[in-house]
Amino acid sequence: MKEQGKRKRKRGRQRHPQNQQSKTITKHGKQTLQHQPSTSATSKPPKSSTFLDKMRARLSGGHFRMLNEKLYTCTGKEALDYFTENPALFDMYHSGYQEQMSHWPELPVNKIAEWLNGRSPSLVVADFGCGDAHLAKIVKNKVFSFDLISNDPSVIACDMSNTSLDSSSVDVAVFCLSLMGTDFPSYLQEAHRVLKPKLLIAEVKSRFDPNTGGADPKDFSRAVCDLGFASELTDFSNKMFILLYFKKKEKHDSESKEIEWPELKPCLYKRR
Ligand code: SAH
Repeated sequence: MKEQGKRKRKRGRQRHPQNQQSKTITKHGKQTLQHQPSTSATSKPPKSSTFLDKMRARLSGGHFRMLNEKLYTCTGKEALDYFTENPALFDMYHSGYQEQMSHWPELPVNKIAEWLNGRSPSLVVADFGCGDAHLAKIVKNKVFSFDLISNDPSVIACDMSNTSLDSSSVDVAVFCLSLMGTDFPSYLQEAHRVLKPKLLIAEVKSRFDPNTGGADPKDFSRAVCDLGFASELTDFSNKMFILLYFKKKEKHDSESKEIEWPELKPCLYKRR
């Protein structure tokens, strides 16, 4: 992606316990998507370019917000058709996404890489909604990277509710800020199909804040468990995102009760 170089990627040192019990790291403050000033104050561009730059940024910011809202309000199949018809919109979305992420003090993809790098590199990973496939580039594992459009030979283009992976063929499934479509349960169902043991989810914190219309993380976790997983760790410690770690249950009665999925509200970004 064009703006990849600008992305700030910090690598924290936090480790997660490995035991089987479900644990919760307590919340240290509310997530806000209120944004810091968008450029560093150190170097001022010449006046003539400032106006044009501002107009350009405003236009692309507007496009990003429109595409972001689209992704949160349609199914994966609709999103796939939409971007396949016009792949340039996908690039536009990702430029805006990188811009938004450059304001986050820590990126969830780095926390996930940290988790993987603390384990055997022989674990096979599926990165559902990989974006620019950054995860595959910063871990030693074999990573199958999936997204709606492939701008990189390592990315497999598809709607992630329907991947080309064999059943029980991967060790870790990752969803990093990618449970976007209205049919997100079908993405998790697909992860359950292709997985042997581990499911890692990082999502925007405000989507799981019941005080502001978000889902109750317990309801979400329960639904994932009903799919055939056991919760291992829920980490609320980051200001911007939550991390959920699950383990696939060895035996699961797939004919059991219908799963009640909570609604996950879209994460709409404010104009900067
Ligand atoms: N995981 C990456 C990118 C997150 S942005 C990171 O952490 O940087 C969310 C990504 O999910 C986008 O690239 C979007 O195209 C992808 N996505 C959303 N719905 C999808 C679907 N149904 N199938 C495949 N990819 C999807």
